[in-house]
Amino acid sequence: MSAYLGDAVLLYLQELIDWESYFSWRKGEASDVEVERAALRDVLETGAQICEEMEPALRAGWDECATLVDDEVIYPPHIKETLDKLREAGLVSYGVEEEYGGFGLPSFVANVMLQMVSRADAGLMTILGLQAGVAEDIQQYGSEELKRTYLPRFASGEVMGAMDLTEPQAGSDLGGIVTRATEEDGRYLVDGDKIFITNGGCEIHLVLARDAASFEQSKGTTKGLSLYLVPRTLPDGTKNGVSVTRLEEKLGIHGSPTAAIHYEHAEGYLVGGLGEGFKAMLSLMNNARLGVAAQGIGIAEASLNVALQYARERVQFGQPIADQPLMKDRLARMTLELEGSRALLYRACSLVDQNRAIEIALARTADGGGELSASERLELEALHERNDTRIRLLTPLAKYMGTEAADSISRDAIQIHGGLGFMAESEVGKLHNDAIITTIYEGTSEIQVSFALKEIGKGALATVFEALETELKTFEDPKLKAEAEKVLDGMNLILGAAGALLADFSYALMSAQSLAEVVASVIAGAELLKQAKADPRRFDLAASWINRRMVDLEGRCKRIQEGSVDRLDRCANIIALND
Ligand SMILES: Cc1cc2nc3c(=O)[nH]c(=O)nc-3n(C[C@H](O)[C@H](O)[C@H](O)COP(=O)(O)OP(=O)(O)OC[C@H]3O[C@@H](n4cnc5c(N)ncnc54)[C@H](O)[C@@H]3O)c2cc1C
Repeated sequence: MSAYLGDAVLLYLQELIDWESYFSWRKGEASDVEVERAALRDVLETGAQICEEMEPALRAGWDECATLVDDEVIYPPHIKETLDKLREAGLVSYGVEEEYGGFGLPSFVANVMLQMVSRADAGLMTILGLQAGVAEDIQQYGSEELKRTYLPRFASGEVMGAMDLTEPQAGSDLGGIVTRATEEDGRYLVDGDKIFITNGGCEIHLVLARDAASFEQSKGTTKGLSLYLVPRTLPDGTKNGVSVTRLEEKLGIHGSPTAAIHYEHAEGYLVGGLGEGFKAMLSLMNNARLGVAAQGIGIAEASLNVALQYARERVQFGQPIADQPLMKDRLARMTLELEGSRALLYRACSLVDQNRAIEIALARTADGGGELSASERLELEALHERNDTRIRLLTPLAKYMGTEAADSISRDAIQIHGGLGFMAESEVGKLHNDAIITTIYEGTSEIQVSFALKEIGKGALATVFEALETELKTFEDPKLKAEAEKVLDGMNLILGAAGALLADFSYALMSAQSLAEVVASVIAGAELLKQAKADPRRFDLAASWINRRMVDLEGRCKRIQEGSVDRLDRCANIIALND
């Protein structure tokens, strides 16, 4: 079996995800869970094998960039070759449902695929990550005609997609978008410019544009924005008004083309309702955020793997540096960071999967299909609502944790290599350069923790903690129970601190990162304990995460609770010392 399919992935595939409920909701009582699970494992094994096989070529081609030739973006050979292999295996667009020619893969499997692709090459991952997001947005919000026209082509890999949001003045704040969509004789025509568009040379662009009719009234807000599918080639075969004006040179992910795009009276087809583009785009972005968390975890895995191998081989003071206590602590910390972030991501994915499966079950039985009684429907609807709240909090936390872990683990991997780590050809140096962008795109870390805070402000902690508490109280093994109690204590401290914090929104914003860290600590702690119950070899991992993180949690909660908005003035005074 490929090393790309690690223990943790198999643990979730075999034990930690409730596939029985998932498949019975999705396919009805008659589904054979063992056959279905084996099929998912086959998909992952095929993906793992391709990624592992291609890793040497992808690493060797790391410096090679995409090029722009006559408005065509050409992928470098190592990217094209791997894409072709994945396309041949049908593994380029994961969530497209079977009725539109796809596999309808669960979010967990799709994100493990992205994680493995990223471990091989984080640049290639950006191209594939977008296929999943763009196609699934069309699937969720597009008209039946758009779905029938484009989704089979996404599933086969015939077309690829891009997500076009950012403009020079509109980065984190998409209210600044000025690309304009004008209705003329029932057609929508898009004019404007976007920057930093990943895979910008592709055929299908999902463009967020401001409606001309309400342009002045809605300017500066996310109201009045609609989402348009803008193809480069129109159905009659003529070229649409979409062109790539520039490819950027970057610090990392060189194989991923990052383009500036110009739209000149480009025809677009509305996806979702007029003025509801931000909502539709948020759904794509939430998918993509889990994808970028998976990207971070893939980079972190690759970095840790290379660092561990080097530390075991490099001898100083008569022994491998891996045997030095300080190095042991560093390597263990890196593993904890990786596994804690992974635990959050897989938990978030399994909630997304549960909800998609529930939606399918509810739709299938909507007209009295017979499988569900009225009270079962009500129960499922209530579970769906609670899960939605959990997903809205876990998604930004998973993105924040997974990408910050990639950044710090790849940086630590350089340190472990000593001077060699700083050489231009250093593998871990390249991995670190790739990691940096993950905390920036799909919403920066600051935006993720602010989103998490917003959800906490709306009361999400109660719903998330309710599930955690139930899980933590089921441990019977004394060792697991003792650790679970520490997590329960941590949750109580957070509830106390969050109450004090939410009384003042400016102070809350200032402390959003601390709050995100502590909430992520308890969720990952509970999840790691579940892993340890299923596989006792993971007990030390769970206990160490909990012990280290709960000490940090106590300090952070105390600081949050004792502070006030005055701290902002203190920050201003400190910053003023630079003037
Ligand atoms: C390689 C690459 C690929 C990309 N791919 C795409 C793509 O495919 N499609 C697309 O539409 N865009 C894409 N982007 C754009 C990306 O999403 C934005 O760069 C990102 O959202 C940040 O926006 P910005 O660069 O304008 O930074 P800004 O929004 O100007 O932020 C600058 C700094 O200020 C901080 N900041 C901003 N607002 C706040 C706040 N309220 N509170 C605290 N801190 C704040 C940010 O966290 C950041 O640290 C890509 C960018 C890059 C570099």
